[in-house]
Amino acid sequence: MINFGFSSRFGGVSKAPFDTLNLGFHTGDAAAAVAKNRELLKREIKAGSLVFMEQIHSDYVLEVTSENLSDFAKTAPKCDALFTRLLNVGLCVMVADCAPIIVSDSKQGIIAAIHAGRAGVCAKILSKCVLAMKSEPKDLKIIIGAHIKGSCYEIGDMNLGEFNAYKNGGFFDITAALRAEINALGATNYEISKICSHCDKNYFSYRRDGKTGRFAGWVIKR
Ligand SMILES: [Zn+2]
Repeated sequence: MINFGFSSRFGGVSKAPFDTLNLGFHTGDAAAAVAKNRELLKREIKAGSLVFMEQIHSDYVLEVTSENLSDFAKTAPKCDALFTRLLNVGLCVMVADCAPIIVSDSKQGIIAAIHAGRAGVCAKILSKCVLAMKSEPKDLKIIIGAHIKGSCYEIGDMNLGEFNAYKNGGFFDITAALRAEINALGATNYEISKICSHCDKNYFSYRRDGKTGRFAGWVIKR
């Protein structure tokens, strides 16, 4: 069985401006509060262990295996996509405007968590992760959580190459770019959240608040 979900900013112990369920250590929040929040998430989703990433806006994809699990659970690996075949390991992606993407391949029993901001989308990290998973499009389920939408994500004159097609004036439509990528992959089983993290105060938004927390997308196989 595969379960997945997305946290909001509520239910944790962090103080303002990280209130309350901040899952990111790199934000400037008290480390003890973040550790407690991660423990709360782990308990909530009944995971044996959680693996987070040290997200670097790259297109690096890593597989969590029985060999590296204990290292990765202790020290988040530098990458922007994780996948695994292991049971009871919660894969987590932290965001505050970037798109959190959860992928599952029911046939192979593989799950993935992907961090896709502007850089990740333009590097097609979703496609690279699916390639690394060696998945058939028909076996894929793709879920994209709350992220900053095209009407709020201003990037000005920045040249995005082929992704300029998803610019509207100075605004970048991450949602449209990801939908096109999913279509190009040939995957038909997908859902994309309509929620804009920048507009909806139930979520952390880096663009809205600057110094703030991170919410997460998670997936686990049992
Ligand atoms: Zn918005």
